[in-house]
Amino acid sequence: MSAPSSSAPVLCAHCHKTVANFEFCTACQAVAYCSIEHQKSDWELHKPVCHSRRQKEPYIAHIDFGRSTTDNSPWCKPLVDAISLPYPRSFRLVASPEDLRSLLAHPILPSAILCTSGEIAKKQHANLRGALKAYIEQGGRVVLGGPGIGWVPYCDIPKLLSSIGGVSWKTEGYHRTTHTLNAAHPLVAALPSPGSSPTRATLPDTYSCKAIVLKGVATGDMMYRSTEDSGVESLAMLLHGGKVGSDEVAVAATKVGEGWFAWCGDVNQEEGTTAAMKVLLGL
Ligand SMILES: [Zn+2]
Ligand SMILES: [Zn+2]
Repeated sequence: MSAPSSSAPVLCAHCHKTVANFEFCTACQAVAYCSIEHQKSDWELHKPVCHSRRQKEPYIAHIDFGRSTTDNSPWCKPLVDAISLPYPRSFRLVASPEDLRSLLAHPILPSAILCTSGEIAKKQHANLRGALKAYIEQGGRVVLGGPGIGWVPYCDIPKLLSSIGGVSWKTEGYHRTTHTLNAAHPLVAALPSPGSSPTRATLPDTYSCKAIVLKGVATGDMMYRSTEDSGVESLAMLLHGGKVGSDEVAVAATKVGEGWFAWCGDVNQEEGTTAAMKVLLGL
């Protein structure tokens, strides 16, 4: 037990009440509790946070409620493995709306949140979408994407994007085509040079994916987009006319307040998308 000297009131990380006789987490010294009981109750939530602070690793949360995509979808597993394997104890699965609520109320927030759950688009989760928006504005990162997001009704996607990211991006189509990296995107331009960091994702210059693509994205916010050379690459999807316009965006990320909001429209979780997601999550 030790208390950093500060005149600010100390709040219990579990019940958020001001406490006089507090105990700091002995491992990280970053959070306090009003009682041993509340420390025990908070442990499941605090464990990945505590580990990430001691190891100076990012703490990532993964929203996956509603359809259990992590457990049941073979598409989601490579994504979760790629993100969690370097940081096994700093990665937290958020499996219910209640879980997300307590995560966002915790004094230590994750460095980034991956949301692969289409459930978040439902009417009853408006408060959670608002809380995610506030989290981004304070410096957090939210990445929407992965197979589960394909379950969001197509017409609801712009509403989802505007309620969490405050953007007016629109859905433009759904097809397989080749997308090109925008090397000038601030998150791409800021990457360390290849080979300088063991965990740095290698972004392909181009890759083919089947994605829900956006229009209305500012050029600077486009991370992977179609060009004049892009054509529909899936025969089944030629039914939709076989045309792909340029500047249809599969991966977009924009600065919102102090943080970042991103969209990955790929529904099959191709390797290129996993690499892009790692960059978007700040890994
Ligand atoms: Zn308490
Ligand atoms: Zn701790």
